[in-house]
Amino acid sequence: MIDKPIFELGKKPGIPDNDQEPASKGHILCKGPPGAPGREEIQNRYFNLNFTGPPGSGSGIYFNLLFLLPKLGWWVEKADEWIEVPPTHKEYYERTMATKQMLESTIKTGLTSAAQAVADFELMSHDIRKYREILTYFHEGDEHVLKSMFIDQVDIHTDLPGQPIALRSIVSKWPTVIADFMRLDDKDTIPKKVADKYDISQAEAVILVTKNKLYKKWKILFGDAAKQRYELLKGLIESRRKSIEEYKEWLKPYIARFKMTKIGGERSKVRARTLRTFTDVTGMSTFANKIRIFAWKAMRFEEHRKPAAEVVEDFILYPYDDYVREKVILDPENGLAYIYPWLRNDRKYCSKCKKYYSPNTLKCAKCGSLRLKNKKYADEIVETEIIPAWREGQNGLSAGFIYYMFFDIEVTRLGTWLRVGELEDITFYTRVFVLSQNALLAKILELKCRDLELERYIDEMLGIKFEDRDIADLVKEEFPTIFKKPKEELTGFQNYIKELGETFSSYTNIFKKIKLPKSTRFMFFKAGPYETDLKERITKHYLKYAAVQLNGMRNFIKQKMGVE
Ligand SMILES: [Zn+2]
Repeated sequence: MIDKPIFELGKKPGIPDNDQEPASKGHILCKGPPGAPGREEIQNRYFNLNFTGPPGSGSGIYFNLLFLLPKLGWWVEKADEWIEVPPTHKEYYERTMATKQMLESTIKTGLTSAAQAVADFELMSHDIRKYREILTYFHEGDEHVLKSMFIDQVDIHTDLPGQPIALRSIVSKWPTVIADFMRLDDKDTIPKKVADKYDISQAEAVILVTKNKLYKKWKILFGDAAKQRYELLKGLIESRRKSIEEYKEWLKPYIARFKMTKIGGERSKVRARTLRTFTDVTGMSTFANKIRIFAWKAMRFEEHRKPAAEVVEDFILYPYDDYVREKVILDPENGLAYIYPWLRNDRKYCSKCKKYYSPNTLKCAKCGSLRLKNKKYADEIVETEIIPAWREGQNGLSAGFIYYMFFDIEVTRLGTWLRVGELEDITFYTRVFVLSQNALLAKILELKCRDLELERYIDEMLGIKFEDRDIADLVKEEFPTIFKKPKEELTGFQNYIKELGETFSSYTNIFKKIKLPKSTRFMFFKAGPYETDLKERITKHYLKYAAVQLNGMRNFIKQKMGVE
């Protein structure tokens, strides 16, 4: 659905097999079939089944399998799918073109309405910034700016034909009149007193007092109007934001299907690599459809060795540990961040309120704490979305189990046109892995990343370009609580605390740097909490059990194919 490679298991970049990277033993468990097939004893960790039959027969097997897996307790997710139709077969090509055009026009109609909402939203965002600025002047009692606004935008229009009375127009008569007006305060309402106080002529004092009374009235009227306008805009912006979200949700499946369907020549590098072998050789295929399925299930035999670790927030072991965070997710060369670099974007975090903020935030908006931690965008997704779902036992996850079986199923469906008629050819390339929960977490984060990329694509189509910021975030920042709270300014003591925090974190950074060379960093500590006994425990227990599951699936497919 999106043109990004899969974060593979048993590969780099990806989550390497424990045999490929022995240093990972104990910190993470990832065991599957080795790269090169053919070794007798490990053959039971993957299978490759192919079936050719009349059109629809292959798809039938595919759906049978997909309906079966959840019944057996597997959680199934489609990680990727695309269909390619080469122009060699006219009928299919035209049919696909028609579908694609239909999708395109639906999307365009939706986009037009959504684009209007986005345009409104932006216009209002601009307006609200303006009003917010004005209200800040009122709030801070910035008479100087308010007086300038009064002179330039209100008073200037009081001139009558042939009768200059605006302050700007009478400067020629009294060169200091504007400066004098600026010096007045609200109590200056009696000409005689004003003349004495500021040492000016009686005539100028009369004019200044009149202007001052007008200014005072204007301040009240304008202040109220600005406040009302601001509140109105706030409501309107919120409703536009909701519409944009609704349009996005509505358009998502259409855009996903649109992006998934490729007509000859539109293919990306990723797809071109995978498909060249099939479609280009014969020149006779009617379509090629590639589907990648991930399915997982907790390993429910908890036997003798339970890890001796404290229970962290209901988890036997907290699945988001430093190892998976730094080596598997955030590593820019071999981690998930290699494919999705924005996972490394900076965020600020208040550990007390468990809230994330944009990287230049100084102070927690909720509790006012200045001790914000430096975090990454990946942390925010994991800790605000994946972990809560995990704790609640959603998506086939359970806080009570630490090992999972993981099916990685690649389905290739080809339509072929031969002299005998049309055939559908389907291949199931399936591998089973045993993963520790932290490895599974990385795969779930990958699925989330793919979803976010699609969303970003839709945002781009809608013209929402907020870089890596969520539109909701942006709105929040546009809604300051200036009615209630004074402008953020750090007092001397707060500054001291902030500087203290910075000093500490710079020390921490130094310690981090001098610790150990990066690649060996984790080897020096006690091996992690996961199984390390590859030969005995993992191969004989976990992998054997997983292989039985895979074998059951193979037999099911074979039976549906009519082979057994
Ligand atoms: Zn806080």
